[in-house]
Amino acid sequence: MTMPSDAGEVRGPADGLAIPRFAGPPTFARLPRLDEVTRCDLAIVGVPFDSGTTYRPGARFGPAAIRQGSKLLRPYNPAQDTTPFHSVQVADAGDIACNPFHIQEAIGQIDAGVQALLGSVRGVLALGGDHTIALPMLRAVHHRFGPVALVHFDAHLDTWDTYFGAPYTHGTPFRRAVEERLLLEDRGVHVGVRGPLYAATDLTDDRALGFEIVRATDFDQVGPAVILERIHRRVGDVPMYVSVDIDVLDPAHAPATGTPEAGGLTSRELLALLRGLRGLRVVSADIVEVAPAYDHAEITAIAAAHVAYELLSVLALPNL
Ligand code: MN
Ligand code: MN
Repeated sequence: MTMPSDAGEVRGPADGLAIPRFAGPPTFARLPRLDEVTRCDLAIVGVPFDSGTTYRPGARFGPAAIRQGSKLLRPYNPAQDTTPFHSVQVADAGDIACNPFHIQEAIGQIDAGVQALLGSVRGVLALGGDHTIALPMLRAVHHRFGPVALVHFDAHLDTWDTYFGAPYTHGTPFRRAVEERLLLEDRGVHVGVRGPLYAATDLTDDRALGFEIVRATDFDQVGPAVILERIHRRVGDVPMYVSVDIDVLDPAHAPATGTPEAGGLTSRELLALLRGLRGLRVVSADIVEVAPAYDHAEITAIAAAHVAYELLSVLALPNL
């Protein structure tokens, strides 16, 4: 990681009319690196860690794939009527180096790296990595903002206790976060949950931890607007964290992920939900579980890049 030097004007992405979009810097959306700007409001950071994976590995290559998939993102967001890269200074902080052979050491490295960023920027967007990284993200966010609400898009609950005896995996971050009191009580919601479970107790255990569940099948009856009313009611006017596991999308929209489940959201539905987070006090976010070795034609990487773009558009709003 690199840090900014001193104060000055907003510097946007490399101009697509001067440098073709397939050329130019390898940063997210061709934005400046953090060490190239004089101040920074929002930092994007790669977290290439996937040692907490239970099924298909490979999300350590997610940050590079999402950056590659982001090259075509243009500065004006018509769906939100915003220019996120010009209203505030956004920069790419590079990757956090984390130990691939020691999960708890890696978690400490991610927590420290994000805490350092949050010392000088107002929000961080992490590009995972597997979902284990949400725990150190929430620790760092808690250090800066105190306990937060959680809006978690995922096919899975990620509130198991342990897996093969291991407490820190991509299936356990949100139970650990509740135990560590990183989250506000009764302000957490999972969106897009589906697929077979080990037992019905997976659901009752999750409810006992204080989470509400929006199932993927709820979208059979109602559209994103009604789901967003539920999310807004649940979260209210408190600082909140957004965690997006790309497997919330149907494998047709995101084949390149660690634990795919049929029957998921379309990318259009997910992007509508993210845009609808306007008005909530989003303080930081992640997009995780992109494992590009299973991708075709960059389908998943491009979807993840658009997820990141909509999250940055919300983070860039002056509502914090
Ligand atoms: Mn998942
Ligand atoms: Mn997950």
